[in-house]
Amino acid sequence: MSDPTRPPGPRIIAIANQKGGVGKTTTAINLGAALARSNKHVLIVDIDPQGNASTGLGIEQDDRDSSTYDILMGDAAPADVAQDTEVENLWIIPATTDLSSADIELIANEKRSHLLHDALRQPAMDRLAFDYILIDCPPSLNLLTVNALVAAHSVLVPLQSEFFALEGLSQLMLTIRNVREKANPGLRIEGVALTMHDKRNNLALQVEEDARENLGELVFQTVIPRNVRLSEAPSFAMPVLDYDPSSRGAQAYRALAAELIARDV
Ligand code: ADP
Ligand code: MG
Repeated sequence: MSDPTRPPGPRIIAIANQKGGVGKTTTAINLGAALARSNKHVLIVDIDPQGNASTGLGIEQDDRDSSTYDILMGDAAPADVAQDTEVENLWIIPATTDLSSADIELIANEKRSHLLHDALRQPAMDRLAFDYILIDCPPSLNLLTVNALVAAHSVLVPLQSEFFALEGLSQLMLTIRNVREKANPGLRIEGVALTMHDKRNNLALQVEEDARENLGELVFQTVIPRNVRLSEAPSFAMPVLDYDPSSRGAQAYRALAAELIARDV
């Protein structure tokens, strides 16, 4: 599906789901790495105070002098804060725990929902020529996630293949509708990616069937299997594509990247 309304510059995708542990960070890291392997210039913006994407890509605490927090506070520019990773073509703006107080610190700022949007559109970003910016959201629908949704062209929703997964979606959809009404009318749903899927598990198959029935084409064809290599890779500070390139997890994220790229041509 090509998108005639697609603006020039990077495609900005928020990876969001207010549930924790559904595969947001795993998707940010590994989809990012897979896109980078396809010769795309990719930036991951870690906007989760837990900073798991930063850690998973090997960014030590000592290397987080400037972070997403400083960008939101207006104390640093993204083009200066973005740092490259061990993965060629993959860059990251790391997160630090001080992000957890950003909600409160920004309460009197009238532009508080637009801070990331404006920062990512600074002209200095052009020289970095990113094709994709993936924003790894926290497990909450707070101001940080709202900043990501206002900044983004689309939302990618990882959905864990378990009972109640679809129920949780309605809250996210409500937030997306609010953001569309108030700040970002063009915000699209890029797609729903089923994660931690186990084909031998009837419940997982049922969730997949329900999701495809209810959400139709919004559900990516690619399904991310439950694969222990995916959970091991971050402790080696690597995407699974480097840690175990032939694993089912690596194959799945390469396929997801290909599906995403195919829509953009
Ligand atoms: P979130 O960012 O939504 O909180 P994570 O990506 O951190 O979720 O995933 C939660 C946990 O599950 C992590 O320990 C991660 O390594 C693991 N995990 C994520 N996706 C998979 C998968 N497909 N197979 C196995 N483990 C996974
Ligand atoms: Mg996470």
